[in-house]
Amino acid sequence: NDAAGSKRTSRVRVAVRLRPYMDKQDEKGEGPCVRGLGPQTLEIVNWRNATETLQYQFDAFHGEKTTQQEVFLSSVKPIVSHILNGQNASVFAYGPTGAGKTHTMLGSQEQPGVIPRAVREVFHLVRTQEKDQGEWGFSVGMSYLEIYNEKVLDLLSPNSQDLPIREDKDKNIIIPGLTHTSLSSFSDFHTHFVPASLNRTTASTKLNQRSSRSHAVLLIKVVKSQRVPPNRQQTGKLYLVDLAGSEDNRRTGNQGIRLKESGAINLSLFTLSKVVDCLNAGTGGRVPYRDSKLTRLLQDSLGGSAHSVMITNIAPEYKYYFDTFTALNFAAKSKHV
Ligand code: ADP
Ligand code: MG
Repeated sequence: NDAAGSKRTSRVRVAVRLRPYMDKQDEKGEGPCVRGLGPQTLEIVNWRNATETLQYQFDAFHGEKTTQQEVFLSSVKPIVSHILNGQNASVFAYGPTGAGKTHTMLGSQEQPGVIPRAVREVFHLVRTQEKDQGEWGFSVGMSYLEIYNEKVLDLLSPNSQDLPIREDKDKNIIIPGLTHTSLSSFSDFHTHFVPASLNRTTASTKLNQRSSRSHAVLLIKVVKSQRVPPNRQQTGKLYLVDLAGSEDNRRTGNQGIRLKESGAINLSLFTLSKVVDCLNAGTGGRVPYRDSKLTRLLQDSLGGSAHSVMITNIAPEYKYYFDTFTALNFAAKSKHV
């Protein structure tokens, strides 16, 4: 689909965002167990010896004072433009429940997150490029789905059944039957997205914290068409993913915590960690995309010529300590190089 798509295999960039300390959540009032040291580094108390700390480095570290705008500008905006050139991209929020994934991705009216900012940016780029390169036209559309217990459910269709994931002859991943809604503006997006995400939230309280066990996947698709012969066409996809809580993959014990050894309660999350490890280790082995629904769905938007970033969200309170420790070890391993 894109002749310019080189054979390079891209790394998944890894950013860590620490949310502010929330007093009420910390019963013992012990203060934070983790703090930032610099734009790429942080330290966490060593659980083996509380007088020591362990230091970690990532592609980017966003401390508790970082604004939504700063997270967007530094970790997301640089990859959004690629989807106007027929390339694919993905942004994930990873981390334990309560650490700020939904705040980062969705945010609030007052503090909009990555999703509304990225969609605005897409429309801004489309308008600019249509003005600058009159021979190309763009169309923007969205799909919105949830992966829960390895079932793919359409959030834009009220009574969705589990949908199949397929690969077409050009190796694009497709979901036949998934609702695709054309969008003409940001407000158009808002109109379709808000009720769908509210649906998900209400359903989740009824279904026993389903939202912390499911992956919410928003797809923004941009088709770029040449208005004159040879009428070339390119499709770019941007996936914006609020992942299930990573605490599902936690295993505590004296040996420390390693995702690879942990019980895979959430198969998709567990497989995602293996896929990211594989891509970032760059050893060229088989990447296990097919082992879960999420990674299969994202296969054409994770490795290859795609641009991706994982924002690992962490919380500073001690009650999250082991979840944080697990998430940091995963993120640090993912960073590799
Ligand atoms: P998750 O989706 O990972 O379970 P949430 O995004 O729901 O976590 O965040 C948990 C709580 O912390 C929410 O009340 C949220 O508004 C708040 N919060 C998270 N990150 C931040 C932040 N960076 N600044 C201020 N409040 C935050
Ligand atoms: Mg959430």
